Amino acid sequence: MSGASVKVAVRVRPFSSREISRDAKCVIQMQGKTTCITNPKLTKDAPKNFTFDYSYWSHTSEEDSAFASQRQVYKDIGEEMLLHAFEGYNVCIFAYGQTGAGKSYTMMGRQEPGQQGIIPQLCEDLFARVTESRSPDLSYSVEVSYMEIYCERVRDLLNPKSRGHLRVREHPIMGPYVEDLSKLAVTSFADIADLMDCGNKAR
Ligand code: ADP
Ligand code: MG
Repeated sequence: MSGASVKVAVRVRPFSSREISRDAKCVIQMQGKTTCITNPKLTKDAPKNFTFDYSYWSHTSEEDSAFASQRQVYKDIGEEMLLHAFEGYNVCIFAYGQTGAGKSYTMMGRQEPGQQGIIPQLCEDLFARVTESRSPDLSYSVEVSYMEIYCERVRDLLNPKSRGHLRVREHPIMGPYVEDLSKLAVTSFADIADLMDCGNKAR
């Protein structure tokens, strides 16, 4: 894949109420692009440093000047993705981490002002750009799929009738895809928001 560009970001979330009640200590610090981990059992040891494209400090709240908000994360990561998509590149984003690490919060967030994750912000911006660049000799089509892979099973969240078990196949040119996954045409962010609601109910 010549020219493919990969960016990696790490984010620390606030403590959960369970972590607070157990008096958990935060062993992570973010310094610029660097994530620093200290071993609480070996405090004499130097912190271990790992550098990424972004290291987000979201352990505190907006009042902290070092705090990385949903908006900030979107501006860094989502805006660049959208730019490349409009340049004609395939873009992909995924979140990795144990349960409760904050994947859903970062990707989808909550439906409250300032709490939306990367995906809804990106979809909103996508239609803003489409509207801006509308011209007689240009047309856009946007299609949405929404699926879940759980216990090795692929489920189409936009087709409630399909009871799981879709097949992942590989196209010789287009690469991996999910066979028979539904793709719904949309013309506005509101359409996507409705589909996300439907899909979430099917989970
Ligand atoms: P995952 O999807 O990785 O299992 P979640 O996104 O559901 O984890 O996050 C677990 C909990 O922590 C949720 O209640 C979520 O709202 C909260 N949370 C995660 N990241 C943040 C963050 N950056 N700021 C505030 N709350 C967060
Ligand atoms: Mg989740």
